[in-house]
Amino acid sequence: MLQDNLFLKIINRQIKANIVYEDDQCLAFHDTNPQAPTHVLIIPRKVIPTHADLKEEDKLLLGHLHLVAVNLAQKLGIEDGYRIVINCKEPAGQTVPHLHFHLLGGRSMHWPPG
Ligand code: AMP
Repeated sequence: MLQDNLFLKIINRQIKANIVYEDDQCLAFHDTNPQAPTHVLIIPRKVIPTHADLKEEDKLLLGHLHLVAVNLAQKLGIEDGYRIVINCKEPAGQTVPHLHFHLLGGRSMHWPPG
């Protein structure tokens, strides 16, 4: 079931997170239940509940999130191979209703994912 928007609480500093990067458009922090040696979440400050809610006006923001992912992969030492995952809605595994990229690396990945 989709929880309340925990990530908005992280943005508003009501909940602590291990933040590795932030700017005026986004934040990145370590996932508390890592699925790989490196597992960081990249989130926009703007509340966009799911990937399916993206609008034309979000094009630049999305590009920015991807460039942040590229830079973080280098900073975190996973530039030789990493995976970006977006779970969209509950059947796909989304639990927090705030768009987020999972940036995973540090181990071999298999395909297809479960
Ligand atoms: P998803 O299932 O795609 O919505 O991803 C939500 C992710 O948020 C999961 O990988 C959780 O482990 C992670 N998570 C939940 N609460 C926190 C938190 N307070 N700080 C960091 N990561 C969290």
